Amino acid sequence: MIATKVQYFEKIETTQHQDFVQNHGNCVLCRNVLELKHFSQKDVNQIKEEAFCLECDVKTRAKIYTLN
Ligand SMILES: [Zn+2]
Repeated sequence: MIATKVQYFEKIETTQHQDFVQNHGNCVLCRNVLELKHFSQKDVNQIKEEAFCLECDVKTRAKIYTLN
């Protein structure tokens, strides 16, 4: 599937880059663009990111990033 709408602006000049962006920005079930939520946890210097699909009503990713 070719991405028709790119939500992020990383370097996507090659098929590998396009596939990577597509796989991380779209639902694995229906290929819709994922919605992202970010939660700041300042007391522990972390940001929690959750990605979910509105169509499938599934959370596809939850990651915690530590702030430097
Ligand atoms: Zn979906």
